[in-house]
Amino acid sequence: MTEMRKVLVIYTGGTIGMMMEEESQSLIPIDFEKIFQHIPVLESMNVEIDHAQMDEIIDSSDMNPHFWIKLVEIIEKSYLEYDGFVVLHGSDTMAYTASMLSFMLENLNKPVILTGSQLPLGMVRSDGRENFISAVEIASAYEDDTPIVPEVCVYFENQLFRGNRTSKFNAEHFDAFISGNYPALADVGVHIKYNKVYIRKPAYKALKAHKNLSNAVGILKLFPGIPLSLVKNTLAQKELEIVILESFGAGNAPTNKDFLSLIEEAGRNGKTILNVSQCKSGEVEMGRYATSKKLLELGVISGRDMTTEAALTKSMYLLGEGYSGSDLRKLLQKSLRGEMSL
Ligand code: ASP
Repeated sequence: MTEMRKVLVIYTGGTIGMMMEEESQSLIPIDFEKIFQHIPVLESMNVEIDHAQMDEIIDSSDMNPHFWIKLVEIIEKSYLEYDGFVVLHGSDTMAYTASMLSFMLENLNKPVILTGSQLPLGMVRSDGRENFISAVEIASAYEDDTPIVPEVCVYFENQLFRGNRTSKFNAEHFDAFISGNYPALADVGVHIKYNKVYIRKPAYKALKAHKNLSNAVGILKLFPGIPLSLVKNTLAQKELEIVILESFGAGNAPTNKDFLSLIEEAGRNGKTILNVSQCKSGEVEMGRYATSKKLLELGVISGRDMTTEAALTKSMYLLGEGYSGSDLRKLLQKSLRGEMSL
């Protein structure tokens, strides 16, 4: 008999724990105890499961930095007591939370598996049961006393992804997440097949939980015909220190002189502009096209194959840690937690 592992399930809200409110006929979050009743099989697993519930149970569209800090505090406080963690979370902003946790939890040596569902557990066809059970299994999977997946991950519909590589791309299908630039860490069928070459190695250092986050970050998504006033107003926001430019294809942007002079002015005013692609797969390669070469000349830096979610949360984390100037630019372009390909 293998050693019984201990997993802490942290319930934050989301569809997995919602039910239909009769009066409003909308889905609202319910208490964790009721969720547990829907999966009696959890009790027969060779895992000791405890649970913690956030003070406020939310639809993940209400996610915010304060909530992330509270979540990290729970993980930090119980880190030594548990072998792994499962975070039940709404799918809408799960990719943001998974990315953020990866930066906040430095030297992570245990699995932190985020999961949820597209249909509430109380519904007959709910995808939540399988997601929950497999997430617990993955969070408690050890080999020779070493966790198989010592990373922050998203588990959804038979696939385990590195959390900071994911984006939600489907609001209807059960396979709601994509990891366009990094292979799945595990495929789940009759067996759980771990793709070990892609999984990060344990850090073998003490966990360092970072709890200072800055919100001096904005996102400017380009589109054909974008009004210059919109670009100007965004870049003129004094409180923003980093602006993530969601560009076209391999990092391309309009060559219009007025647009480019706004970018240049923002750089002169001390803003860092980080270029990520609107595409879900592939990377920013500034200089490949004339339309991106200009950005490079103006000091825009490349987010390479980072998702917008990873770029945003990494920026909030680095600014919160007090980085600025060339150190900030250097770290933004470096892989800190496997969020970017080397
Ligand atoms: N609106 C829900 C949430 O993100 C959707 C879900 O859970 O899938 O909390």
